Amino acid sequence: MLAGKAALVTGASRGIGREIALELARKGANVAVNYSGSKEKAEAVAEEIRALGQESIVIQANVAEEDSVKAMVKQTIDAFGSLDILVNNAGITRDNLLMRMKEEEFDAVIQTNLKGVFLCTKAVTRQMMKQRAGRIINVASIVGVSGNPGQANYVAAKAGVIGLTKTAAKELAARNVLVNAVAPGFITTDMTDELTEEQKQAMQSMIPLGKPGKPEDVARVVRFLASEDSNYMTGQTLHIDGGMVM
Ligand code: NAD
Repeated sequence: MLAGKAALVTGASRGIGREIALELARKGANVAVNYSGSKEKAEAVAEEIRALGQESIVIQANVAEEDSVKAMVKQTIDAFGSLDILVNNAGITRDNLLMRMKEEEFDAVIQTNLKGVFLCTKAVTRQMMKQRAGRIINVASIVGVSGNPGQANYVAAKAGVIGLTKTAAKELAARNVLVNAVAPGFITTDMTDELTEEQKQAMQSMIPLGKPGKPEDVARVVRFLASEDSNYMTGQTLHIDGGMVM
């Protein structure tokens, strides 16, 4: 399905990003595993990809720093000879009620979750436009559509990602570079482990399918958006939320 394609997944050492990297590899893609924290975990993901028979490299880079992002994209193209799929997955939370939210908390989340998507998208466009083919898939969030108390920074960033997705889709369509987003709901990962039991119960009670999602549920939809099965889709945001927001 993705044989011979070169993919770069940001924040791929754990959680949803890790599962996306593995899913793309299972379908034949070579994958660059970006990480900012644990090299050991990123290496473990790359090893799993190699065990599947695909090539993999690990790249440390902060998605919020332009030089770091440029170097990461160059390293991926040097290693694989092309760059066909970018998944902007890296993200952080710094939750707080609006009246208590510190400027640093707001800035940190916007830098990583929104500016990071802008920088990585910008960095791959030249290569993808030259190829006259490419897929950019942004991991937004359902709260970027619905809003969520305590997450003004995160919601603003994710709503921004959805807007950026539509604009990039329109700018790049003529060169056959397709840009879509996914908006996961409540997915069990290290990020959601930080929630209190009460917050988890409150989230779960809002899910018509009655259970949280798994990273694989997101990865499979990302794989669809990276594949030829979605050739006639661009600028879309697909909700992967058990029906939370319809
Ligand atoms: P996670 O915390 O397990 O993974 C996030 C990854 O991003 C980590 O590997 C982290 O090291 C990396 N990262 C953070 N800042 C970075 C930076 N500046 N540069 C490079 N990498 C960086 O979280 P997750 O739940 O797997 O989340 C993955 C994505 O899915 C995020 O964008 C998140 O906002 C989004 N999301 C998650 C959920 C959920 O319920 N888990 C719901 C909606 C959206």
